[in-house]
Amino acid sequence: MTLFDSPAFEGHEAVHAFHDAPSGLKCIIAVHSTVRGPSAGGCRMWPYPNAEAALEDALKLSRAMSYKNAVADLELGGGKAVIIGDSRTMKTPALFEAFGRAVEQVCGRYWAAEDVGVSPADLAHARKHSRYVAGLDGHPAASGDPSPVTADGVFRGIELSVRRAYGSGLSGVTVAVQGVGHVGGFLVDKLKAAGAQLVLTDVNEGALRQAADRTGARIVKPEAIFDADAQVFAPCALGGAITLETLGRLKGRVVAGGANNQLASVEAGRALFEKGMVYAPDYVINGGGIINVAAEIRALDQGEAYEPAWVQAKLDRLMGTLDEILQRSRDEGRPTNEIAGEIARSRITRPSA
Ligand code: NAD
Repeated sequence: MTLFDSPAFEGHEAVHAFHDAPSGLKCIIAVHSTVRGPSAGGCRMWPYPNAEAALEDALKLSRAMSYKNAVADLELGGGKAVIIGDSRTMKTPALFEAFGRAVEQVCGRYWAAEDVGVSPADLAHARKHSRYVAGLDGHPAASGDPSPVTADGVFRGIELSVRRAYGSGLSGVTVAVQGVGHVGGFLVDKLKAAGAQLVLTDVNEGALRQAADRTGARIVKPEAIFDADAQVFAPCALGGAITLETLGRLKGRVVAGGANNQLASVEAGRALFEKGMVYAPDYVINGGGIINVAAEIRALDQGEAYEPAWVQAKLDRLMGTLDEILQRSRDEGRPTNEIAGEIARSRITRPSA
């Protein structure tokens, strides 16, 4: 199969591959759509086993960014960058400077921000060579770490989902949280403050212990999180948590969390629905982070400062869209992920002349 026949490539406008021998940079920038505006999405650094795996990830993630940005009603399209390499051992300023030069060569059709394995400090090196880098610290337009805003949206989305599934607030409801990193860490504090009971897991025992000490949560082994006696399962680690197998083990009626690509397959999405569960589609509930990054892009474009009120207004609207999706799912008897996909696609379509 060639690139152009690959299902993951379908709908993409462009894919760029860059190699910088002196720094060792090998990176792919995938631009899925610029129909709504320049594409925007994080840069992920991951030790992909080969270039094909990196390409496949870049393509899937850039398409997901088109959907996320459209549902959040941002004037941005979808794109994503992946750097092939181990972020624990291969990061250098020169590598990120070379990444900045690569972003610059895409001429503003792609805005980079941070993703797994990449920090604001790394992006500061990239920014020396391209203005199309956001998610930074230390200037008036800077939006900083997007995770608190992501966690805010996820918390509100869990509240909406619990109200739909159980007709109650969060007080006394048990939430099983998989992953207490940047997003999960902020989320558990909010859930605790709202009176929820918590069951937590993480493969990072230090982070897990800290989160449990702060919140008085019960800890379980990573594999046991699916068996927790909880009304809500909140995936906040990596993608693919919901398979037909793990779904069969969940005891609650809500799946709502911060992770990207939570459904391992389309069948898992349909099975969730057929079990009578409420699923808050991942790219809807976790759109707070890209809204925060969009506020920086907007401020840079207009020569203004970052505006928290703009972020809050966009997040409020996104939560309204999530509530509408949950309502339509009930009224139309269809899975939430199908309805969210339709909304996104209708907003990405180029208007006919
Ligand atoms: P992170 O790396 O800070 O946190 C992820 C946590 O999950 C880590 O503590 C890690 O140890 C843990 N983990 C990994 N595998 C696990 C497993 N099998 N079982 C239990 N724990 C496991 O990342 P993050 O920024 O918190 O992002 C979490 C998820 O949310 C990712 O899927 C990310 O793509 C998505 N997301 C993040 C943001 C954001 O603003 N940071 C925005 C949108 C989506």
